[in-house]
Amino acid sequence: MFSEMFGGAAGLLSSAEAMVTRALNLRSDDVTVCLDITLADVYNGASKTVIIERKRGCTGCRGSGRVMTQCRACQGNGITMYTVQVYPGIVQQVPRQCAMCRGSGHSGRGNCPMCHGACSVIEKRVLDVRIPKTASQREEMVFHQLGHHLPRTDPGDAIVILKIAAHHEYNMRGIHLFAERSITLSEAICGTSLTFNTLDDRKLLVHTPPGCVIQPEAVRAVQGEGMAAPHNMPYGNLYIKFNIVYPETMSAECCAKLKELLPPPSPVNIPDRMAEDVEEVQLTPYDPALNQPTDPDSDSDYAHPPGVQCVHQ
Ligand SMILES: [Zn+2]
Ligand SMILES: [Zn+2]
Repeated sequence: MFSEMFGGAAGLLSSAEAMVTRALNLRSDDVTVCLDITLADVYNGASKTVIIERKRGCTGCRGSGRVMTQCRACQGNGITMYTVQVYPGIVQQVPRQCAMCRGSGHSGRGNCPMCHGACSVIEKRVLDVRIPKTASQREEMVFHQLGHHLPRTDPGDAIVILKIAAHHEYNMRGIHLFAERSITLSEAICGTSLTFNTLDDRKLLVHTPPGCVIQPEAVRAVQGEGMAAPHNMPYGNLYIKFNIVYPETMSAECCAKLKELLPPPSPVNIPDRMAEDVEEVQLTPYDPALNQPTDPDSDSDYAHPPGVQCVHQ
């Protein structure tokens, strides 16, 4: 485990330090990056590479920031001998922990040339991201223990957040794709053919049969042409919403012809202007900007022209 923590430099962390790390549950931060992908990347399960920058404990100084040199007092043994007088005239050499290096065998002098005293270095790491075909917007892909890894901590994770760009035609909702198409009134009534380019570059041709009238905002499905579903369930569907483009104007001649062809209007009971008290009114175009709803209970100036006060009676 320790060799993993410092890139193969075994024995750099003592087991005691590692035990403390584990006991305190110290953990370095995660590295989080966004990966911009397309809807086609998801559909096809594309593979991408992401380069992350992670902080790692410097191997040159064991994360101390100081350059490690051998202790001169103990020549790196961590132990020095000192002389004790046992009886008058009789002395004995007794080992004790080196006071200079406190038993470590080395002494720090000056900043480490690798990390310049920062204790950690920035390491670039390439992550191979295999985009799942079932990925959703802002899905997080976790690469365990590939986040920051500072000395005396457990490594954090690297987290790649998938950002799926808006597609010019398809809108993904769950496992289904939604598209909108505008067709003319004639096509809506008499039938039409539409083509779609799939996200894996196939061409789909769909027909609306003549006489099978497409109503405004009607939705039709193409089974199995949506996105992949989890657990190997069947693919989602492609839903097509139809917008009907009506002619702006129509000649009286056309109207007469259409009247003959189209089903007759439902009978309307028009009151006799002369016999009944009836007022004939005009229809004008509706402009939402000029027809703001007003709240009669509101005291705000919203409903009144500027400078006009609301007078309560
Ligand atoms: Zn020493
Ligand atoms: Zn260093």
